Amino acid sequence: MKSKNILKEMTPYQPGQRIEQVKKEYGLNRIVKLASNENPFGYSGKVADHFSRQPSALNIYPDGYTTDLRHALAAKLDVSENQLIFGSGTDEIVQIIGRAFLYPGINTVMAAPTFPQYKHNALVEGAEVKEVPTVNGYHDLTGMLEAIDDKTNVVWLCSPNNPTGCLIPRDQLYAFMEKCPEDILVVLDEAYFEYINGELHPDVLKHLNQYNNLVVLRTFSKAYGLAGLRVGYGIANHELITAMDVVRGPFNTSSIAQHAALLALEDDEFIEDTVSRNSMIKKSFEQFLDSIGWHYFDSHTNFLLVSTPISGEQVFQHLLEKGFIVRPGEGLGVPESIRVTIGNETDMQQLQEVLYQLHHNINEGS
Ligand SMILES: *Cc1c(COP(=O)(O)O)cnc(C)c1O
Repeated sequence: MKSKNILKEMTPYQPGQRIEQVKKEYGLNRIVKLASNENPFGYSGKVADHFSRQPSALNIYPDGYTTDLRHALAAKLDVSENQLIFGSGTDEIVQIIGRAFLYPGINTVMAAPTFPQYKHNALVEGAEVKEVPTVNGYHDLTGMLEAIDDKTNVVWLCSPNNPTGCLIPRDQLYAFMEKCPEDILVVLDEAYFEYINGELHPDVLKHLNQYNNLVVLRTFSKAYGLAGLRVGYGIANHELITAMDVVRGPFNTSSIAQHAALLALEDDEFIEDTVSRNSMIKKSFEQFLDSIGWHYFDSHTNFLLVSTPISGEQVFQHLLEKGFIVRPGEGLGVPESIRVTIGNETDMQQLQEVLYQLHHNINEGS
């Protein structure tokens, strides 16, 4: 039995540290996970209420057309119902795009560092990956245009970018779309869409009819707080969606996930509350970092990429022993940094105390 050759050079996704295991290993009672950009405030009470009262028909296959959620989302986004595709998280849509548009002999262009699943799926499909370094955490869109050649089929834009948090400025995004050849698929991953300050948002959906080569990705995993249920979606013109739908599994989102997403979508108040709390806590964390002189990237998300005076791995290990799980930058392609999800008020206050002590120790040379 022979698998694709490339699989021998790759590794499966490495899950983060398991909370129970970390507790045991370091003798801790409580762990604060700030590693995966989940919503520290949970999810809409409407979802919790419904599922505590109403059992679900688990013996019945889900609606393969995701009709109710599709209807509500199309209305909310002001697009046609046939301009949407749903996936088991945005991760699955990334995989679907790979299967539909990437194959040996062609290449795909992306930033570095960026969300690792673009590269992972491209390699599995046998495509060549062209990475263009970010500049201060921002996509180098000029460099990315230059990297495009006649073998390029897909360009990935992550805005705000994970792991840097930087947002592609609106004028740059539109200039890019004007210059990018129309036969190249542009994927704009807006997993952190809800966190973007409205004034800065490029509002690309308004121009979707003009850009037939654009697909926008969003998710219920981050601000909506439903990461455990796995629902993400893509928005594009109908022809692109049809090509992607051929690849999609018939029942790729579960009935519970569809229903929870629908209820969550109707709770604007929860999102507003999440976004405003995140923004306040992030600002106060930034002020703290300013006070100890640690640099951070300009983030429009619920996480911050923080430059560290010692290796990110060392800071990660120190925080782990104190009960905080963050992401060391070494694994994200940004050495000497950590990526910290913005947690709730209390947890971030405690994190700051631990970081302050660490900063002090480093300066004392101990
Ligand atoms: C978290 C994240 C995703 C994946 O989200 P899911 O919908 O949970 O699969 C996609 N893109 C970026 C940039 C992310 O940070």
